[in-house]
Amino acid sequence: MLGGTTEASALARAVADAGIAATFSYAGRVDSPKVQPIPQRVGGFGGVAGLVRYLREHNITHVVDATHPFAAQMSRNADHACTEAGVALLALTRAPWAAEAGDTWTHVPDIASAVEALGGIARRVMLALGRMHIEDFAAQPQHHYVLRLVDAPVQQPSLPHHSVVVARGPFDVAGDIALFKEHAVDIVVCKNAGGVGADAKIHAARALGLPVVMIDRPALPARREVATAQAVLDWVAEAQHGA
Ligand code: NAP
Repeated sequence: MLGGTTEASALARAVADAGIAATFSYAGRVDSPKVQPIPQRVGGFGGVAGLVRYLREHNITHVVDATHPFAAQMSRNADHACTEAGVALLALTRAPWAAEAGDTWTHVPDIASAVEALGGIARRVMLALGRMHIEDFAAQPQHHYVLRLVDAPVQQPSLPHHSVVVARGPFDVAGDIALFKEHAVDIVVCKNAGGVGADAKIHAARALGLPVVMIDRPALPARREVATAQAVLDWVAEAQHGA
């Protein structure tokens, strides 16, 4: 299981309860990842070749890509490596969030366009992107940025005006409304992750009438996809019965 999401953790619980032998893989982006109820490993595999080697050495028969929709490199590598190693691949995915009546979303295709979309007068920006890409926003130094991070940054971000909030999701709507009010946030920048693990900020922005700069998802390889942990278990069982 390629993890790192709320949905992946829920799947790990279901896999453990079903007694399926599985390993949970983390990239290693946070200092102390959530402990899973199945064995876990941490760190990159070393590209496609490294993943093919790992699959063979560990006699892996099934790979579930339950990574974040923005972890496009890992998803591409999994697709190539599974084809090369002859291993079955399934993606556990979630639908993107959609704007509702009253929402003011500016859709942008990537981080660079999100930076550009922040041109203009100084604002107080909730930058809900994790620790990657923070430095890109130094190109719009007029704003005060609120950074919510899993770990306190080792090096201070070079944004001239910012506050760091150290917290680990999932978050709830009341908490995010309180956070946005406390920091007088007037615009939110986030990725269209979809799912329920990270959607509190969208509901909070909606409740407070705040505009959102929504970074749309990168293109991912076409692969078999399901939306629930149960569907993953059914897929594993189907392969076992079919064998
Ligand atoms: P990425 O750009 O797609 O992946 C870069 C490299 O990190 C991969 O080539 C792989 O290294 C390694 N990697 C990524 N996910 C891995 C995993 N689950 N197990 C082992 N190695 C992994 O990924 P990313 O966007 O940096 O995301 C990293 C992790 O954080 C993912 O597992 C994702 O689910 C989670 N996450 C990402 C976001 C986001 O916004 N991108 C948000 C929440 C959680 P090698 O090539 O060496 O194998």
